[in-house]
Amino acid sequence: MTPKRQIETNLIHAGEPSPRIEGAVAMPIFQSATFTFDERHAGDHDALRYIRLNNTPNHAALADKLASLEGAGRAVVAASGMAAIGGALRAVLKPGDHLVAQKGLYGGTHTFVTQELPSIGVEVDLVDGASAASFAKAIRPTTKALYVETITNPLMEVGDLPGVAALARERGLVSMIDNTFASPYLFRPVEHGFDLVLHSCTKYLNGHSDVVAGAAAGRASLVDAIHKRLNMTGGCLNPHACFLLHRGMKTLAVRVEAQCKNALALAWMLEAHPAVAKVNYPGLSTRPDYARIKTLLPKGFGGMLSFDLVGGAAAADRFFSALTIPIVAPSLGGVETLVIRPAVTSHAGLSADERRALGIGDGLVRMSVGIEAIDDLLDDVRRALDAAT
Ligand SMILES: *Cc1c(COP(=O)(O)O)cnc(C)c1O
Repeated sequence: MTPKRQIETNLIHAGEPSPRIEGAVAMPIFQSATFTFDERHAGDHDALRYIRLNNTPNHAALADKLASLEGAGRAVVAASGMAAIGGALRAVLKPGDHLVAQKGLYGGTHTFVTQELPSIGVEVDLVDGASAASFAKAIRPTTKALYVETITNPLMEVGDLPGVAALARERGLVSMIDNTFASPYLFRPVEHGFDLVLHSCTKYLNGHSDVVAGAAAGRASLVDAIHKRLNMTGGCLNPHACFLLHRGMKTLAVRVEAQCKNALALAWMLEAHPAVAKVNYPGLSTRPDYARIKTLLPKGFGGMLSFDLVGGAAAADRFFSALTIPIVAPSLGGVETLVIRPAVTSHAGLSADERRALGIGDGLVRMSVGIEAIDDLLDDVRRALDAAT
């Protein structure tokens, strides 16, 4: 039995083939669609290895590493975060079932639960994620699962996550959580009672803005059901993307550590700047819910923040033009700092009134903080804010 090790060690060593393949220290890429079949294992589905079945050596090593990082019974990688999330929701929910999900979900997930699920006869209620009581109130006899996100986009709220997991357990429901924004370095949902953890590995797990990938981890029976659906629908990750994700994941701890530090420093600078009306960052100790969030995320508060500019959309335009380090681009979790305006990207599908009701103004800027030198970032952002006023 291997001793229980910390995540920094597991990122490097868990799931690696033993013995190493031809002695290779880095996991080689198995760029082979199919593998020799051993007649002695006829009838055993796992004996048939094929890229679409997500079971080649690259898939297996990644799945083992991810399961270890999340402290989960099993994990599976997928072609994208949405392949994992859609596959998981379809594996858990059958026609006639009911889902209670948190309001303000990631855009792709919001579309899936409000359009795709109703089209197959699954009913959905969206509730305030801050309290488990709002989930409890929405539960019906047909409710099958509860769905939340660790840190919400773009206002970076952290709900009563252990409360939601406990409620699901008490009522015999499946608890599902999208842990993309926190990553297993900051938060491991299984340790807080969640059944199923979903990831867009495109973001922090890969960390280099060069791969699209997803994963599900959790109870073995649930992950197996998702794996089966992915095999049917073709949501497999290709071996080269497996290799890049595998390589990227090894540095998760050092990257996220640096991103948390940089984001906290930027959040305080923004908080003090006259061009900024409001800063959304879970790590600001001036928040009324800071103490609760600190116990949930003791290692750090993540690399995502957002802020409202006093001058609205016009000020955001001037701010973006004056920046020389952060890049104006969607997506997140990479080593480079990115900025984007949610009103024209992730939430462009809503009317201005709907956005205002959610607290997403036209001057709201979302920032995915990278690992650049903090003094350079502070100087550049401060200078661009000055230019925006
Ligand atoms: C990006 C993202 C997704 C979707 O992942 P893809 O890899 O783009 O399919 C899902 N959830 C969250 C929180 C995300 O940020």
